[in-house]
Amino acid sequence: MLKKRMEEAINKQINAEIWSSYLYLSMSAYLEYSNLPGFANWMKVQAQEELTHAMKFFRYINERGGRVMLSAIDKVKTEWESPRQAFEDALGHEQKVTAMIENLMEIAIEEKDHASRSMLTWFIDEQVEEEANATVIIEQLKMIGDGRGPGLMMLDKEMATRVFVDSTQSKA
Ligand code: FE
Repeated sequence: MLKKRMEEAINKQINAEIWSSYLYLSMSAYLEYSNLPGFANWMKVQAQEELTHAMKFFRYINERGGRVMLSAIDKVKTEWESPRQAFEDALGHEQKVTAMIENLMEIAIEEKDHASRSMLTWFIDEQVEEEANATVIIEQLKMIGDGRGPGLMMLDKEMATRVFVDSTQSKA
């Protein structure tokens, strides 16, 4: 059985993952409207990924005999000054999520909940990737500069190739 303290903390994380998805979907809408369909695609895939994170926690609570309790999703930002600003926000958000996952791991350790520790290890690794992905894009946007020249168009084409894969099914 999942302890109440762990259950509550994971339920909060489900909300945070769904909020992340909502944030990235909002960024996708902004990028689409800015005539950058590739960047918009990348963010849409990111939004889909976040939902799979929520579902991994959802399944885990149920598997451990806990109860999933969904709560209100806060509203998200809708405007950014540039694609780079959106990706910088995304990185800042992922850094917060990393801290939240680390906090969940601290709780699992304190509660001597080995099953939760094992499950959370996947998320610890995932966060390394999330921060690295956003960082690369920010660095490339810095190289291109602030204009909407050929560099931005080329990067947009590359971002269009990202496809959604549910990695929670294979790695879990
Ligand atoms: Fe996530």
